[in-house]
Amino acid sequence: MQKIVAANWKMHGNRDTIIGLLQILQQRLDNIETEIEKIIFPPFVYIPLVMELLADSTIYTGSQNLSEYAQGAYTGEVAGSMLADIGCRYVLVGHSERRTLFAESDEVVAQKFAIAQQNGLVPVLCIGETLAQREAEQTENVITAQLQSVLDVVGIEAFANTVIAYEPVWAIGTGKTAMPEQAQTVHAAIRAFLMLQNGVIAKGVPLLYGGSVKAENAVELSEMPDINGALVGGASLDADEFAKIIEAFTN
Ligand code: PEP
Repeated sequence: MQKIVAANWKMHGNRDTIIGLLQILQQRLDNIETEIEKIIFPPFVYIPLVMELLADSTIYTGSQNLSEYAQGAYTGEVAGSMLADIGCRYVLVGHSERRTLFAESDEVVAQKFAIAQQNGLVPVLCIGETLAQREAEQTENVITAQLQSVLDVVGIEAFANTVIAYEPVWAIGTGKTAMPEQAQTVHAAIRAFLMLQNGVIAKGVPLLYGGSVKAENAVELSEMPDINGALVGGASLDADEFAKIIEAFTN
């Protein structure tokens, strides 16, 4: 199983901080022998800068978002074809901040997933429950409904070339991490749900955990059998911390 550690920079950074961060990150990674796939998701406007700075590295660049439309009169939107055109490989789809702050419905998320794949991008599909849903013991229902709405549009075959990130909403940016066993339970449920559709595909989908991942908790998370990597927000803005997380998933 390909392990993946990805950085979601959200709406942070500027030219100077990005140049500095990537310099330190590359120095740290020079000392770590790792086969882990590494991805940086910068804000749209810095994607070309990050690609240029990472041209000689093994780190991929991705986009935090894309339009659900192919092209046309959609002022302010960015098409999947444009991201592919400039060399993006991955795109986040359905991040909880998009779902809650920008009202992206399951249908819009599914459409974005489809358009990403139509353009040869690998969607990193983010799913997860809120605290209220967890407390109401709805976690499994919520994540399977989120998966089902994408499956309804693209079918299980599309999952042969996708990544899923389980990100409990209550753990994103809050400093609260799911206990490794708690996360593992949900990851196993995601895999079991996909197994019902296609065993081979289900076994091959990398399942990332996201939600306040730090160097401090990365080792324990990485020891869980169905946690194949991490999607890291806040801690990815610190090159040392992010390199340590990559190291944790390497060992
Ligand atoms: C995220 O934004 O995907 C995320 C997991 O954020 P944080 O690591 O800051 O909780």
